[in-house]
Amino acid sequence: MLAGIWEEFLMIAREEAGSRVVETWFKAVTLQRWDALNKVVYLQAPNHFVCDWVQTSYGLLLQEHLGRLFNVVKPKIVITTEVQKQTEEVDKAHAAVLPAESLSAALEPAHANKVSINRSPGFGNKNYSFSSFVVGPSNALAYAAAQAVAQNPGTVYNPLFLFGGSGLGKTHLLHAIGQEIKTNNPKAIILYQPIDRFVTEFISAIRFDRVHKFREKYKAVDVLLVDDIQFISNKEQTQEAFFHIFNALYETKKQIVFSSDTVPANIEGLAERLRSRLGWGLVADIYAPSLETKIAIIKKKADYTGQEVPDDVASFIASYVVSNVRELEGALIRVMAFASLTNQPVTIDLAKKVLMRCGESHSHLVDFDSVIRCLSKHYPYSLEELRSKGRGKDLASVRQIAMFLMKKVTGKSLRDVGHFLGGRDHSTVMHAVGCIERRALADHAFGELLRRIEQEVTRS
Ligand code: ADP
Ligand code: MG
Repeated sequence: MLAGIWEEFLMIAREEAGSRVVETWFKAVTLQRWDALNKVVYLQAPNHFVCDWVQTSYGLLLQEHLGRLFNVVKPKIVITTEVQKQTEEVDKAHAAVLPAESLSAALEPAHANKVSINRSPGFGNKNYSFSSFVVGPSNALAYAAAQAVAQNPGTVYNPLFLFGGSGLGKTHLLHAIGQEIKTNNPKAIILYQPIDRFVTEFISAIRFDRVHKFREKYKAVDVLLVDDIQFISNKEQTQEAFFHIFNALYETKKQIVFSSDTVPANIEGLAERLRSRLGWGLVADIYAPSLETKIAIIKKKADYTGQEVPDDVASFIASYVVSNVRELEGALIRVMAFASLTNQPVTIDLAKKVLMRCGESHSHLVDFDSVIRCLSKHYPYSLEELRSKGRGKDLASVRQIAMFLMKKVTGKSLRDVGHFLGGRDHSTVMHAVGCIERRALADHAFGELLRRIEQEVTRS
């Protein structure tokens, strides 16, 4: 169970902070023990350096999401370099501690992915298959295109470009394509690659003078599945390298599939010739699921785990979570876990209690633009200025407010928010959220203003 929770955390961290952070830091850390009584999570790091770094840079991320996964608010996070047998031993080992209840309130819903990426044997994540994907009007085109590509790779739509909001099933479909092709043709070389892993690999290839090898590796694949291609924006050298790989694969009729949160035309800082290639094949969108589709997804997820969800509870959860399927799963898991832990039947009242308690009403999920629009009524800064490198005190503070609000009301990841506001790092956004929360606590008038703007945003 601990391993499962850690895997879930890695999935969330990958969404929030990117694969690079996960590969570099979190993969080195293990989840050792969970002390439910005292609400303490014990983690183990291989050395003091990792221990301290993870603590200072990612303490909040750990606290927030592990808290969610263990179903408690703000657990204490203890990272040590030695195996902990008893709580008292914590002091003896080198330990970095993030206290319980000390920091900012949890802001976002659980990204309760139940599964993890596993690379062997076979292909990818077994739970991300075509058969576990619920088809509705919102994703029918993307689903049909994905199936066509899986059955006839390299011939029908090349490249296939899937785009849609966060948590709507893009990664799921990429894996499903890979799995299906692998089943039909076990010899096929299929590579699933989140774009930031591609970037990391490319950078280290340059550093160690292995660019040639890097290219060869990619040119050898039969199917290339590239997740979150939007994060290649403004990375010129990587785009250049990718462009050549794309051409080589395309010319030899190898299938390429992209996922993105937006259409090629809207990916900023993208070289024109690469942009045009992304749209060469079929561009298919996935939008937010209808109520019926959401209910069907809940039913299917429950079926998979052999649990029973009454119809009225399923439709309550479905109407409670607006669009993000990942959050839908998270809500379902929390309700089911709470019912089973407390030995109660799964009812609407129970679901209300569990979901309201987490304080995450997403009935007014909004986009980045609405936040900017509302902010501009209170502060004299344009989107360009917020995105700029300008560090004037006033501008910087409004930028932080924008980050805080975006994180709170859009359901997007830290990485998405940072990306939108001038390509800033997820840690900058995390820092901003903390600053604004502390300021709102210390300064009553500011806190009031913030709440007012938030209301305006969610009503817009
Ligand atoms: P994205 O990559 O678009 O952000 P994911 O593919 O990671 O979203 O999906 C988030 C979660 O929601 C995954 O656990 C996925 O299995 C699930 N999911 C999304 N859409 C569907 C669907 N139509 N049917 C079943 N599960 C879905
Ligand atoms: Mg994804």
